[in-house]
Amino acid sequence: MDKNRQSLSDKLIQPEFHDPYLKPWHERGDTFCPQCGVTYQAGRWTWQHLAHKDKAEEETCPACRRIAERVPAGQVTMSGSFVKPHSEEICHIVRHAEELEKPEHPLERLMSISDTADGLLVTTTGMHLAKRLAHALDEAFKGGELHTHYKEEDCFVDIHWKRD
Ligand SMILES: [Zn+2]
Repeated sequence: MDKNRQSLSDKLIQPEFHDPYLKPWHERGDTFCPQCGVTYQAGRWTWQHLAHKDKAEEETCPACRRIAERVPAGQVTMSGSFVKPHSEEICHIVRHAEELEKPEHPLERLMSISDTADGLLVTTTGMHLAKRLAHALDEAFKGGELHTHYKEEDCFVDIHWKRD
């Protein structure tokens, strides 16, 4: 498939085939993450309890592993003179994006929000959340510039949002 075309469409990106955090899970049966309580059932991640928890395996899920190892799947760098004075509203939008994303996609979580010299840096355990929160910012505060770059065989998304 054409590499450039693939990067243009979210639907065609399938990190589970390359992502070292997701790959080993293809072979797994029902599993329960003792750290966050997420379950893996019939090939899907869900917050639903396992029907037979006694028969399930226990294993740290990819999101908890990324948090423990500090290896994000996405980052959003925010810069420009608008960012620092509006950091409270920006953080609110970032957290709200996680609240909307996480119930449906349990591996999409916020890792950190930190100050940088000229703005803020947000890291996430999943690419969708990074994209979702960047688009939410872009929508909420019109007039910024948004750039999205996929890296490491489409397993990492690096987003820059600049607004003065
Ligand atoms: Zn977990």
